[in-house]
Amino acid sequence: MVNKKDIKILTEILGLDDVKIVSHRLHNGIGIILQTESKKSYSICPNCGATSHKLHQNHRHIVKDLPFGEKPVFLEINRRQFKCKKCRKPFSEDLDFVRKKRTYTERLARKTIQEVLENDIHSIASKGIVTTEEIERMLKDASKQLSDSKPSNLKRLGIDEIALIKGKGNYCAVLVDLDTSKLIAILGDRTQTIIKESLLEWGVEVLEQIEEVSIDLWVGYKNLVTELMPNAQVVADRFHVMTQINKELDTQRKREKRNVEELINKTKLASQKAEYEQILEGLKNSKYSLLKNEDNLTEEQVKKLTQVKNVSPLLKVMHDLKEKIRKVFNKTNNWYTGVFKLGMWLSRAKIYFPNSNNTIIRWFDEIIAYFDNGTTSGTVEGINNKLKLIKRSGYGFRNFENFRVRCLLNWQFNY
Ligand SMILES: [Zn+2]
Repeated sequence: MVNKKDIKILTEILGLDDVKIVSHRLHNGIGIILQTESKKSYSICPNCGATSHKLHQNHRHIVKDLPFGEKPVFLEINRRQFKCKKCRKPFSEDLDFVRKKRTYTERLARKTIQEVLENDIHSIASKGIVTTEEIERMLKDASKQLSDSKPSNLKRLGIDEIALIKGKGNYCAVLVDLDTSKLIAILGDRTQTIIKESLLEWGVEVLEQIEEVSIDLWVGYKNLVTELMPNAQVVADRFHVMTQINKELDTQRKREKRNVEELINKTKLASQKAEYEQILEGLKNSKYSLLKNEDNLTEEQVKKLTQVKNVSPLLKVMHDLKEKIRKVFNKTNNWYTGVFKLGMWLSRAKIYFPNSNNTIIRWFDEIIAYFDNGTTSGTVEGINNKLKLIKRSGYGFRNFENFRVRCLLNWQFNY
């Protein structure tokens, strides 16, 4: 029995534009079946854009919708065929809540993708609402939509890379919107050609809007920005500058350790040997005490730091300089002050950090650009960690394309 009041309430609960419920049934073991009709009596011809009122045929289907409580919900829909007066051909109408040839509504697809991002395909399929094949189809559709869309309102871009398989040189380039901390793209390779292809797909309008691009110290990225983004300032990421300085400090630590080990082997004199051994003791296990930010050292690491500084005057100076430049980056938010302080640092550090000194001079403009807006790729670090997490978890995805889609959807849906 169809009660008018019931129908009105059900239509309201269903909440789909231009759709009304005609009848409802509850089948034990199946779920709720709602028979729907479109409120519109016309459709637009996809060929010529003319409005057609001439109904040609009814095509009824059953599609799945969001469950109601524990009960699965099915919609009986009518995707009507109209006949266009102009083209004289029949066409099947577009329904905005369910795509053609799909067995589920758009909103069920959205909700399912969201769930898949937090679980895995098989556990979602096992709930019995949608099948594995349907989920895969949903993901495929969403990925198609993603690859068709361009980044909007992108002002500050971060380009970085992530090693997917550690130590295997298997790198992906990662493009990030630094203002929203959203992943824009993840590319199967980090070569200039691959990244360029992807950037060009955004079109001139998007590229011209970009004001700053944070990169590591790779000239390939710099060239890309210069070539494709006429209004963008390149900012050399300060964390990558620190990585280089730390590397140089660590090289010196290893060198001193090696030297003193050699001396111990060569020396015959017992008193001399004891002295070298004391130095070696100080150098041993000092890597993290030297490289970690001094503010974050544990009590034990602080002790170690004092010890290594006592046995090596050179490492003491280098460590002090490393901490000094870190503070310059941390505490300076004025371009002129930044230029001045970095210049001072260089004049002192030149003989201790010859490689870093050269790098900083070569990238001076891009490094001091940091002091304008404090732009860094810091947010990329967090994204990279999340990407690694997604990769490790697997979630039933095996190839790179699936991994890529999953990553993009993660940011699309969850932020
Ligand atoms: Zn037409």
